[in-house]
Amino acid sequence: MICDNLSVNENGHLVFAGKDTVEMAKKYGTPLMLLDEGKIREKCSIYRRAMQEYFTPDSMPLFASKALSFKYIYKIAASENIGIDCVSGGEIYTAFKAGFPLERAYFHGNSKTDEEIRFAIEHGVGHFVCDSVEEVTAVNEIAQTLGKTQRILLRITPGIDPHTHKKISTGSVDSKFGVAIETNQAYELVEGVLKLGSIELTGFHCHIGSQIFEYEPFCDAAKIMIKFIADVKRMYGYEAQQLNLGGGMAVRYTEDDPEIDYAANIKGIADIVKELCAENDVKMPQILMEPGRSIVADAGLTLYTAGYLKEITGVKNYISIDGGMTDNPRFTLYQSPYTVVVANRMNEACDYKCTVAGRCCESGDIIQEDVMMPKPRRHDIIAVMTTGAYNYAMASHYNKVPKPEVVMINGDDDFTVIRRETYESMISNEI
Ligand SMILES: *Cc1c(COP(=O)(O)O)cnc(C)c1O
Repeated sequence: MICDNLSVNENGHLVFAGKDTVEMAKKYGTPLMLLDEGKIREKCSIYRRAMQEYFTPDSMPLFASKALSFKYIYKIAASENIGIDCVSGGEIYTAFKAGFPLERAYFHGNSKTDEEIRFAIEHGVGHFVCDSVEEVTAVNEIAQTLGKTQRILLRITPGIDPHTHKKISTGSVDSKFGVAIETNQAYELVEGVLKLGSIELTGFHCHIGSQIFEYEPFCDAAKIMIKFIADVKRMYGYEAQQLNLGGGMAVRYTEDDPEIDYAANIKGIADIVKELCAENDVKMPQILMEPGRSIVADAGLTLYTAGYLKEITGVKNYISIDGGMTDNPRFTLYQSPYTVVVANRMNEACDYKCTVAGRCCESGDIIQEDVMMPKPRRHDIIAVMTTGAYNYAMASHYNKVPKPEVVMINGDDDFTVIRRETYESMISNEI
């Protein structure tokens, strides 16, 4: 199986995080998202330990909470002693309500509103990651009116193409994020920021993209960033204390994807970073990384109930399910690969080719194309693996489909962490 939290039991049922998924579907109904708390914590601690050991003792992963944002996950992040990255007032608010210590939060985004900036400063968000000249000015002004000094990092575009999907590649010069080194605007911005009274610059950030399997692109980015740090030190006498290398490490979605050793990748990056710092005569900064997908993706599994089989003779077969792009829009958006199985018939031959289709009124509402499975029957339980990241977080109410229930599994325990939406809760804001 693609992850060690998956197996098959004596009834031929798929087991996830020690629980029979068919029993879970019966107990909670479908569509259902299951989360494996042990796996989430394991990933947090792999990052935390490797970063402390290979970079510096104060280096720290920040969970990129846009991948999966709800109260309980911020409680896990708090107890795992890691930071978080938030991209909106809504994410900050959710973390705040969960009791997350916001001094360990980093506020991202290329379009922060005045209200969000004020809210974040008032609630003690530790760092902003500022994206543009105008944003820096706005943060400085608002911090000043509140009588505070806000610590910030500047988001720099290093000009890297990490060979991932265009929509999730973010480090090239024409990106909507950050300020470019290539155009000299990054240097000009640093010079300006150092003169502002209500902002304290603590360092620099870059993020090159997502679902990146190799660690070399991160080394390439680190190389550019450390040279930038050295240039800035020489030009303005300012030495960065923090370097944030962003997120983007890949996860396995199918058997074709290679296995990833995150700790080894971190060591590979750290070796280069240390060498570069020595070469460029800058002190080793505190390193931050922002894993999102690689913390939660394989800690998630989605269960659906099969609807109707449609055989278009000689052309294509479809099995419909009771969810779709409203809870997982990733195939629709990026043609993302997933491993899909019939959870109640794991020991049967996979000799039937079938496309798994969502329930929305869009031909593009597909979960996966041409899956090999036992010929599906109405009321079979269809399981989609590796759905912890960018699924529930991207869920919508299209076609007025309620969002699924989310259940956390922790050892023998299983408990609801997000209730299933009802028709009534869905229309609660409607007049
Ligand atoms: C999306 C994003 C991340 C997380 O990326 P993953 O691929 O999920 O690890 C981290 N930092 C920034 C700035 C992002 O935009």
